[in-house]
Amino acid sequence: MDIKALIRNIPDFPKPGIIFRDITTLLKDAKGLKYVIDSLAYKCEQLPSLPEYVIGIESRGFIFAPALAYHLNAGFVPVRKKGKLPAAVYSIEYSLEYGTDTLEIHQDAVSPGAKVMIVDDVIATGGTAKAAADLLTRIGCEIVAFGFIVELKGLGGRNRLPNVPCLTLVEYD
Ligand code: AMP
Repeated sequence: MDIKALIRNIPDFPKPGIIFRDITTLLKDAKGLKYVIDSLAYKCEQLPSLPEYVIGIESRGFIFAPALAYHLNAGFVPVRKKGKLPAAVYSIEYSLEYGTDTLEIHQDAVSPGAKVMIVDDVIATGGTAKAAADLLTRIGCEIVAFGFIVELKGLGGRNRLPNVPCLTLVEYD
C-alpha cells in the first residue's frame, strides 16, 4: 500500500520551512489505518525480544501505541508532557530548538528489567524519543525497539537513539 499517498503534506506548518506530515488523512482511511498498525505489528513480531509494554509518547504516539500493544498482547504506558499525570512521576528535561521540554512517566508504570518499546508517529531529530529512552533507561527498563510510522531521514534521528531496532514504515528525505 502507498502510505505516503495517504499522508498530507502541509508546507510551513507550524513554522516557515517545516513540511508537516499530517497523519489525520491516513488515520481516517480504514484500509490505511489497518495497514499501518498491522505492518508495524508484523515487524515487531520479528524482533528478537518482544516488548511487555508499548510506551506511547504524547500526543500522537497515543494513537498508535495502544493499537500496537493490543496486537502484541502487551500493556500500554503513556509518557506525557509535564503536569498531566496524576500520580507520582519520574521526569526528564530535554532540549528543543528553542528552550526545553519535560516528559514524565508514572513511577509505578514500569518496573526495572521490564522490556519496553517506544512509539511515536514521526521521528524527526530524535530528541523526543531519545528523552523517552533516557527516562526508561534510568528506571532500569530494557528498550527492545522503537517504532514510528514516519521517519524524516535527513534529520538523522535514529542515530541519536540506543542501538536497538528502529522500525519505521515510510521515509522522507
Ligand atoms: P523530534 O523530537 O525532533 O524527533 O520530533 C518528534 C516529534 O515532533 C514527534 O512527536 C512528531 O509528532 C513531531 N514532528 C516533528 N517534525 C514533524 C513533521 N515534519 N511533521 C509532523 N510531525 C513532526
